[in-house]
Amino acid sequence: MPTLIAVPLHVLDPEAALGEATLARDLGANVVEFRLDGAIEGPESFDAIESLIARSPLPCIATCRPSWEGGHYEGDEGTRIDLFERLIASDRPPAHIDIELEAFARTPGLESRLGGALSGARVPPPRLIVSMHDFGGRPADLARRLLHLRTIDIASVHKVAFRARSLRDNLEILDILAQRDRPTIALAMGEFGLLSRVLAPKLGAYLTFASLRDASATAPGQPTIRELIDLYRFREISPSSRVFGIVGWPVSHSLSPAVHNAVFESARQDAVYLPLPIAADEGDAEGTYASLKGTLLDLLAREELALAGVSVTIPHKENLLRLAIEQRDQPTTTLPWRIEPIALRCGAANTLAVLHDHILVTNTDAPAALACLRNAGVGIASSRVVVMGAGGVGRAIAVALADAGAEVLLANRSIERSRSVVSDANAPSARLRAMVLDDIPDDADAYVNATPLGMSGGPAPGASPISAEQIARTRAGTVFFDTVYRDQETPMLEAAKNLGRECVDGLSMFVLQAAAQSELWLASPAPLALIERVARERLAR
Ligand code: NAP
Repeated sequence: MPTLIAVPLHVLDPEAALGEATLARDLGANVVEFRLDGAIEGPESFDAIESLIARSPLPCIATCRPSWEGGHYEGDEGTRIDLFERLIASDRPPAHIDIELEAFARTPGLESRLGGALSGARVPPPRLIVSMHDFGGRPADLARRLLHLRTIDIASVHKVAFRARSLRDNLEILDILAQRDRPTIALAMGEFGLLSRVLAPKLGAYLTFASLRDASATAPGQPTIRELIDLYRFREISPSSRVFGIVGWPVSHSLSPAVHNAVFESARQDAVYLPLPIAADEGDAEGTYASLKGTLLDLLAREELALAGVSVTIPHKENLLRLAIEQRDQPTTTLPWRIEPIALRCGAANTLAVLHDHILVTNTDAPAALACLRNAGVGIASSRVVVMGAGGVGRAIAVALADAGAEVLLANRSIERSRSVVSDANAPSARLRAMVLDDIPDDADAYVNATPLGMSGGPAPGASPISAEQIARTRAGTVFFDTVYRDQETPMLEAAKNLGRECVDGLSMFVLQAAAQSELWLASPAPLALIERVARERLAR
């Protein structure tokens, strides 16, 4: 049976709830969950609730979550149980009633009471969802609670939800679903838990939750129904779907899921692409490496997940290369690892592909940047290029340009960093030289901004690594290429454009690096125009 999409709705005003339920239906939901926590004011409210359920445009789940399980209901437990009995006996009952596992411990005899009501029902009664939630994290006594869940015979569906504190917590959800003995809803809450929600059809879950709109999310990390259906192509996800994603921290605003899922759709691929957040601690480089390594190896080891490729972004690019070198030399995975020379030269990798007989790690940033310069008319081998910024991207572009025969001046605000890149790169000294930003010459063929200067939301949105006066002193035809891709017109590009210089924005590089990843994963040419359109649309939001 296909995995259902349920939209939770907090019921305060029944008419408003019906309107929202109709909207949920129109957006593609299969089920609505009426959260009745705030709607029960005693038995006198039962008629209105019964009428709401009878008029629902979609099958519904009736839930009244008490405060002791993370909900808002603070009334008397007896009244809550009376409501459930009334709904079970109704001529037009809800499709499901959700009741917490903990309720059976709190109310002795509850199972036989509800069992009696179910067997006495005049029409097919609701299916009971017996649920357990932990908003703090994975419960320490999870195994015991799962065993307890199995002892409740009247449960038609099990529901297990806990807050994921890392991406790895999703793997426990995979296990719970793999070991289910009846229809099961299992999900991890919070930013780290999105995988469990989106991959519900792949993992065989009975149902997943999606919010009607962002502000109405009843649980942290819940995608909206539009995201689930349009962005992640939820209806196309099946047990055979291959999984891809972007590893980084933070990744929630990445353009990559929109871009790669659109490519999968256009290429009719049975695949889905997700944000894969792996937290980083600036003050603990070894701890950050350990979490990238542990998480990625755990995800790769799960055959049922079918992780087929990842993009890797800040701050894990250097760590991916380090992991690949370790695995190349002493593999712990079934498949051997190979590293493309460009990644070793750049000192960083942004792409991993699980191919049929090996795991390939490479860098698509540097070739994309070189392609941008070539497309703008720069003849790399005979050119003189100033790369401004000696961080991960600056280093990759500078080394790749020097390897391709360009004369490269790598300029940083502190000379130490550019010097260390130059000495690590071991390129011919005539081709790669270190300098400070203040000393850059006027006569280069191209200038590349590889700092975050000029990026909105960055450290200096109004700044440029090269002044407008200096841009005015460059030759006509000089190329200005800004790797910043969140803004199409950074201060550097604006000044260069006003002076009639050739301009290339960072989105062109983003498009080409994404296209190279896609070609590696899908072994077919990437739709460049589609990638560019989707990326520009996302940025314009
Ligand atoms: P990174 O490793 O953190 O390096 C940042 C660089 O910028 C360093 O050289 C740093 O110099 C310099 N910098 C930072 N703030 C500065 C300031 N206020 N003044 C002068 N220099 C400053 O970052 P990265 O990974 O290389 O990324 C750099 C940029 O590349 C990002 O902003 C991003 O927009 C862009 N990018 C584009 C794409 C694409 O596809 N278009 C992909 C990835 C990244 P210090 O050494 O002195 O700190």
